[in-house]
Amino acid sequence: MRASLARFLESALLAPVLALALVSTSSAADWDLLIRGGTVVDGTGAPGVLRDVAIRGERIVAVGEALDPARAARVIEARGLIVAPGFIDNHAHVAPTIPDFPLEENFVRQGITTIIASLHSTDQPFPLAPYAASLRMAPNVAFFAGHTWIRKKVMGLHNRAPTAAELESMKSIVDQTMRDGALGLATGLEYVPATYATTEEVIALAKVAAAHGGIYMSHLRNEDVDSLKSIDEIIRIAREARIPVQVNHHKVAGAAQFGLSVKTLATVEAARATGLDVKIDIYPYTAFSTYSDVMFPAWSLAGGSAEFAKRVADPTTRARMETEMVTIFPQQAGNGPASIQFRTLARHPEYNGRTLADYLADRKQPTTIAAAIPALIELQLEGSFDAIFHSMDEADVIRFMKYPGAMFETDGDPIGFGMGFPHPRSYGTFPRVLARYVRDLKVLTLEDAIRRMTSLPADQINQKERGRIREGAFADITIFDAAKVQDLATFTDPHRFPVGIVHVLVNGRPIIRGGALTGEMPGKVLRGPAR
Ligand SMILES: [Zn+2]
Repeated sequence: MRASLARFLESALLAPVLALALVSTSSAADWDLLIRGGTVVDGTGAPGVLRDVAIRGERIVAVGEALDPARAARVIEARGLIVAPGFIDNHAHVAPTIPDFPLEENFVRQGITTIIASLHSTDQPFPLAPYAASLRMAPNVAFFAGHTWIRKKVMGLHNRAPTAAELESMKSIVDQTMRDGALGLATGLEYVPATYATTEEVIALAKVAAAHGGIYMSHLRNEDVDSLKSIDEIIRIAREARIPVQVNHHKVAGAAQFGLSVKTLATVEAARATGLDVKIDIYPYTAFSTYSDVMFPAWSLAGGSAEFAKRVADPTTRARMETEMVTIFPQQAGNGPASIQFRTLARHPEYNGRTLADYLADRKQPTTIAAAIPALIELQLEGSFDAIFHSMDEADVIRFMKYPGAMFETDGDPIGFGMGFPHPRSYGTFPRVLARYVRDLKVLTLEDAIRRMTSLPADQINQKERGRIREGAFADITIFDAAKVQDLATFTDPHRFPVGIVHVLVNGRPIIRGGALTGEMPGKVLRGPAR
């Protein structure tokens, strides 16, 4: 009461003085910025309301009706636009390349103000503290300790259990990374070499993260035929390591698995009913993108490419590999080679964006799984490649999206505009949710979708002063046109920025103004622990 009275008196007494002062210098204004006349959707799920938002320095200092523009050094007119907290991307591959892409343009143009580098499959910057201290970038970022890299560093690509000394060594890297500000531990158990880890190994490492207040994020061991077993595994890790867990990019791939989301979500819900903290995040597309490694049995890749080549050269081993690949193909991809779209085929760049069916047809081969398998082996011998796998059902995507504990991620890469053939998620994820699933299909309300993009993930990583439009919060703000917002990137034309994202602020400073990058780099490294 006293504080608000004091503010009232201050504004009543000083406003004329400040208005005069504005003429000569803007630095004497009460507010650096006033966002005026927009519909504030505050991130909590509450209905949007017409409010003005005043910012001083890094923070929101006032949210109210008809705030006096004369008190602000600058004004953004937001009439007809939504004023939301900045969006939080739960998983993207931004590290360790942030110095190469400090503006993270394909992310921030989606309205993303914080990117979580969960590092479940990519290399972890180590030690984390000096790397984090060296960074300058437009959005905020946060990091995890990444098991895939840690295991590779300690044990190479070998398919075996760690010795006691190796396990201690992995634990000490998790420990140091947590001390350096990581949010928790992340694993990519589908990938070499993490796939060779037992659940017990992950529990041992997750306990280290839990002791620091960390959370655990997982790219599940299997996202297709064994999705349910993989959900059981992450729930066991939650229980035994006593750690909150989050499934990154939850999906059920492969036509035989369509509808399995009903069971995976029921399993998650049953675990939550016992008091475990289990959440998921997703991206709004029916194709995933990853390395070609997922088309091969894990044992065939152990030890690296030279070992793989030796196995291929041995007729008995190759026959076993091919037999298993016939089973793996429809589980990971679709019913034929048209479902695998190359992103980067280093030796045959003319196929970037085209499919394995195109590749076979050009070689006068039948476009069948039987013909695709020798071709995949030949291509793998030339080097692992990135592809887009069209193998999900939108009904599952929608079911995941509606789950109350579901958030969003891009799984995106930093893209040089026009370079390579990326999955459109790198450009379009958040606008696509707002356009297709909120405005067009009405799967989520605008307020609920924004809650899942803002306060829900902010709370998940213990950033209570982000993810909300309220007095005292950091001014991470995305201002967009709900009627016009639209993702434009597609699987045939991926290099398209979305439209309708008008202004984006990070820590009070504009990184997008009027739809254009400002070049400012006010992003911070958000430190853990997450709990
Ligand atoms: Zn992943």
